[in-house]
Amino acid sequence: MATHPRNGNLVVVVGCGRLGSLLASRLSRRGLEVVVVDSDERAFGGLSPEFSGFRVLGDATELAVLRRARVEEASTVIAATRDDSTNMMVAQVAKQVVGVPQAFARVFDPSREAIYHRLEIDTVCPTNLAANVIVERVASALAVTPEATP
Ligand code: AMP
Repeated sequence: MATHPRNGNLVVVVGCGRLGSLLASRLSRRGLEVVVVDSDERAFGGLSPEFSGFRVLGDATELAVLRRARVEEASTVIAATRDDSTNMMVAQVAKQVVGVPQAFARVFDPSREAIYHRLEIDTVCPTNLAANVIVERVASALAVTPEATP
């Protein structure tokens, strides 16, 4: 299916909410070519004024929308909506159907992470990240080793 040459600099960010707009703005600032996709046009208002990438309006669970976002050329797709199932579908299509080398999914339910990993999708779980940081800080404030906490 991938008839387009890969662009090592091209990142597609799906979902331009709190996380996606921050990612798109920061990756763009670091010199990457960023395409951001959202089904709600108002979401693009969260991008930084210097954002130099493209915006695609549409439902990213539709392959045609992902194609408009140049997913076939992308090296990385980041599924950053607030819905685990949407993120799973987008990352899976990107990785397994289109052959994008790297796909990340935001996943709220930690119990789903194992499934993603079996599909070779990288995950970022805000619940686990927050728990790790809080456990570390509590352990350090109370002078116990992190391993000693349950
Ligand atoms: P937040 O939870 O604030 O990071 O926002 C998530 C963003 O994902 C919102 O701007 C939604 O409009 C967007 N979103 C949710 N589902 C889809 C979808 N299927 N395709 C594109 N964007 C979506």
